[in-house]
Amino acid sequence: MLSIRDLRVEFAMRRGVLTAIDGVSFDIGRGEVLGVVGESGAGKSVTGAAIIGLVDPPGRVADGEIRLGGERIDGLSEDEMRAVRGRRIGMIFQDPLTSLNPLFSVGDQLVETMRSHLDLTAGEARRRALALLVEVGIPAAEERIGAYPHEFSGGMRQRVVIALALCAEPELVIADEPTTALDVSVQAQILALIKRLCRDRGTAVMLVTHDMGVVANTADRVAVMYAGRLAEIGPVSDLIDQPLHPYAVGLMGAIPSLDQDARRLVQIPGTMPRLSAIPGGCAFHPRCPQAFERCAARRPPLVAKDGRTVACHLYDGSAEAAR
Ligand code: SF4
Repeated sequence: MLSIRDLRVEFAMRRGVLTAIDGVSFDIGRGEVLGVVGESGAGKSVTGAAIIGLVDPPGRVADGEIRLGGERIDGLSEDEMRAVRGRRIGMIFQDPLTSLNPLFSVGDQLVETMRSHLDLTAGEARRRALALLVEVGIPAAEERIGAYPHEFSGGMRQRVVIALALCAEPELVIADEPTTALDVSVQAQILALIKRLCRDRGTAVMLVTHDMGVVANTADRVAVMYAGRLAEIGPVSDLIDQPLHPYAVGLMGAIPSLDQDARRLVQIPGTMPRLSAIPGGCAFHPRCPQAFERCAARRPPLVAKDGRTVACHLYDGSAEAAR
């Protein structure tokens, strides 16, 4: 459904060009949830912004291809991209109030969004809006369809945003930290709702999060990003049970487990480099406990290993050659 190839996003600054996303490629299939994880500054949200054509200036997509349903959507005009957002790509952000207009009832917002993208009468749109509110779990939806966003709790507002993201039957939903602002008790319900509704509709989901627990419970596959590059991508169970890339090993070690003997909390030493100071070779080498000579000199290519794709010299034959 979504296919990204060699995506490169650059920011032209006074002191030179900074590369925020550097050669990222991945696919998301129908009804599949791809978790995109990494620390703050890894490039997760910029990748999402590039897909929806909303990279803030002076940033721009400098290279690569973004295809939705086989059709290229990078390089569309602002008007064409506006039609893609909302209709073909639904968005769920951390703060529901960024997606909702405080001046209109939730019902009116759903009806308006549907009618701007789909050929529906006002009555049909209203019936669909009500059905969607019921489906996302708004209690007494028939009475609450006329309520305003501030009249809902945070969790209920995020349910309304999910209805809004899905109301035009998009092919892709980008959910960027959709539960970070919510109480822990409602996080799991919201994630389960996104997963169920998108799977039922065959909608692809890109789930951007810094929280490995969220990915472990929700995603089918996971892409680990570091310094604007892909470190490892593969099925979520493989990556959690047996991560290959040393950065992924550190991230997975940070998932708390009931089985504390098997999985202690691990801290990755150091911090993510600033865009202006991304190290040469493997960007992770100053923090990597397994770094060897080649790591500082050459950027590792993405190679296939055990059903995943990983960018690390430990798996491209360099480590054996160095012994
Ligand atoms: Fe560590 Fe080298 Fe692999 Fe980078 S390429 S993750 S520095 S072992």
